[in-house]
Amino acid sequence: MPRPIHAVIHQPALANNLDVVRRCAPQSRVWAVIKANAYGHGIRRAFAGLRAADGFGLLDLNEAVLLRELGWQGPILLLEGFFQPQDVPLLEQYRLTTAVHCEEQLRMLEVARPKGPLGIQLKLNTGMNRLGFRPEQYRTAWERARTLSCVGSIVHMTHFSDADSARGIAHQLDVFDATTANLPGEASLSNSAATLWHPQAHRAWVRPGVVLYGASPTGVAADVASFGLQPAMSLHSELISVQDLQPGDTVGYGSLFKAERPMRIGRGGLRLRHMICVDLTPCPKAKVGSAVTLWGQGLPIDDVAMASGTVGYELMCALAPRVPVTVATLTAPEQPALA
Ligand SMILES: *Cc1c(COP(=O)(O)O)cnc(C)c1O
Repeated sequence: MPRPIHAVIHQPALANNLDVVRRCAPQSRVWAVIKANAYGHGIRRAFAGLRAADGFGLLDLNEAVLLRELGWQGPILLLEGFFQPQDVPLLEQYRLTTAVHCEEQLRMLEVARPKGPLGIQLKLNTGMNRLGFRPEQYRTAWERARTLSCVGSIVHMTHFSDADSARGIAHQLDVFDATTANLPGEASLSNSAATLWHPQAHRAWVRPGVVLYGASPTGVAADVASFGLQPAMSLHSELISVQDLQPGDTVGYGSLFKAERPMRIGRGGLRLRHMICVDLTPCPKAKVGSAVTLWGQGLPIDDVAMASGTVGYELMCALAPRVPVTVATLTAPEQPALA
């Protein structure tokens, strides 16, 4: 007997959220970020909802190949570029735009000498300190890239560490603008948070991820309430257990929760790293088998995540492959998933 759980992916919500991004950044083209299997939604399922994007950003070559197989002819950006010399011919074969963030990648292009033209996004490390050329190396890297006959356009790229928090982006934006001043080429800087809240960083391209799926970059649903985002995933289950607790009873491993009053709690048929128990005291009729929505329309994933000590991104990516999924398509209300 399968666990009573199923997810619904809402393609109209994805399309709506892409529209929200367009309204926020009307001058910019949009790389819809679909890494991590479209943040747990499934690339096949997410694609139809996001196909009005100008391009797709992802991490893995096989995800890029899948997109081509789905019929996407437009730009695809490898957000962290390629890793080995044998990847270089695939850039050409699948017409992939690639981030170039380190010496080794430049050298692989210099050695492989593909025909091109390849679009590259040259990554400047403005303080995130994960990937990218340091400001003092950047111009040299740009000159090297420019002299490669295989390189077509060079877009200047960076990534923000604090666009969703009080520190903000000024310290990184200043470094970016100073370093790229007088160099020709478009720029690509903004993740979801900068797309919503930092218009000065929009430039030619924005690279939103998590907002496309309807979650907040801060992990707080109220922070995005005014934008009209819709949840792209809902997760439904049934109660598989109901327990009546007396004051002092504790719940689960490590006894992390302690009842302070008599209460009734329930557990859904959900298996994630984060177990979710709910207080059923306000729902006296709830019993084993009662339908529950774990997150989705009317119940923001960020609220659920916060109550379970995580963020929406982690929950949506944790959707296990064995959970049955239906797709609410753009044309019909609900249809069986492709696979
Ligand atoms: C993941 C990622 C994004 C999107 O980030 P969100 O916070 O989900 O919007 C943008 N750019 C790069 C390089 C990324 O790796």
